[in-house]
Amino acid sequence: MVHQYKNNGYNIVMDICSGAIHVVDDVVYDVVALFEDNALDAIKEQLPYGESEVEEAYQEVQELKEQGLLFTDDIYEDYIKEVKERKTVVKALCLHIAHDCNLACRYCFAEEGEYKGDRALMSAEVGKAALDFLVRSSGNRHNLEVDFFGGEPTMNFGVVKEVVEYGRSLEKKYDKHFRFTLTTNGILLNDEIMEFANKEMDNVVLSVDGRKEVNDYMRPTRNGKSSYDIIMPKFIRFAESRHQQKYYVRGTFTRRNLDFSKDVIHLADLGFEQISMEPVVGLPEEPYAIREEDLPQIFEEYDRLAKEIIKRNQEGKGFNFFHFMIDLTGGPCVAKRLSGCGSGTEYLAVTPWGDLYPCHQFVGEEQFLLGNVFDGIKRTDICDEFRQCNVYTKDKCRECFARFYCSGGCAANSYKFHGVIDDAYELSCEMERKRVECAIMIQAALAQERE
Ligand code: SF4
Ligand code: SF4
Repeated sequence: MVHQYKNNGYNIVMDICSGAIHVVDDVVYDVVALFEDNALDAIKEQLPYGESEVEEAYQEVQELKEQGLLFTDDIYEDYIKEVKERKTVVKALCLHIAHDCNLACRYCFAEEGEYKGDRALMSAEVGKAALDFLVRSSGNRHNLEVDFFGGEPTMNFGVVKEVVEYGRSLEKKYDKHFRFTLTTNGILLNDEIMEFANKEMDNVVLSVDGRKEVNDYMRPTRNGKSSYDIIMPKFIRFAESRHQQKYYVRGTFTRRNLDFSKDVIHLADLGFEQISMEPVVGLPEEPYAIREEDLPQIFEEYDRLAKEIIKRNQEGKGFNFFHFMIDLTGGPCVAKRLSGCGSGTEYLAVTPWGDLYPCHQFVGEEQFLLGNVFDGIKRTDICDEFRQCNVYTKDKCRECFARFYCSGGCAANSYKFHGVIDDAYELSCEMERKRVECAIMIQAALAQERE
């Protein structure tokens, strides 16, 4: 499968199955489009170039094909079947340390931290049992990931500390290493928490939506005040104290700020070097939900952002925008590329009372309750269902040029919009494909500059 597009003055040809990317001139670009269904003479007739130019381009395309860099076959489909039959181990947990929150974000999928249940804080006993469960279920895997999530985990920070301490005590005994992550809205962030996080947390995720007015509309405090003023000075300090590494500011854009490139730039101007900005996922009846008619503007914003990133990189003021960071080298883990985030198999969420769900987005959906951290997984049938999900089991993904970058999308979004876990949410797909195109264009531009 070949995908070709023009962006920012570059003609880009992607060979999907080999992962090869080609930046080509107009003639080669047009020949590629006709190559598979036409003989050379027919191509010459259809294109407005000189005969020798087309012949030369044809030759080039032919050579790329012979080298296995264009029009290659998909060799992964059989491989994924084999991989899916292997036993998987649990390697990451998302601990819902607090089903409670001190903000009242309008788009909160966790319903202001409460998920579909009562407010609750995880006890240290449950947190420790979760780590025991992870150690038991992780086979020979050495590195284990634990995300302290909420609601807002700093509302139960004493337990976070206790669980981390307990985790460290298990490492030597079981030959494991815990990589802890903290996701926070910043309201309760203070020097003590920052110091602890800088010592113990591999990564911290700082939630903020960008410009003050944008952030404060969607992320007000419980009494309707600005959260930006409270959190921003702390986030700036926190990012600096981590040397602009191993953290990221994460925002969400909605229909109210379709000009979200300005929010990303705002965060970059404040000095943040690790930035993520995701489209909100909301049901159509929500006023902030993204609609199909918004896509052209969103695509323009991604283009604008991509150009700005190239420019800032050239000026030595670059920053990382997570959704444009893709690995073009192929990477070793094909299985991961084909089946995504690992929800329901390698990655599970734990509620404050110790119940296990496929991921944080499924918490509260009783039909996805897998078991609990004390007794382990009881519903292995649900895990099997998640394990079987991959880009080849989803019709939409099989034909999608972005499949090896996207890995088949989000099971939770599929469930939200289609009532099944193995479909794809089309609006997300459209945006994902655009981001992949921008990401590759950026790499092409930066590579050209290095030459
Ligand atoms: S963009 Fe959509 S269709 Fe394409 S691989 Fe991802 S989930 Fe599948
Ligand atoms: S299923 Fe979706 S929300 Fe859940 S972990 Fe995967 S990508 Fe994230």
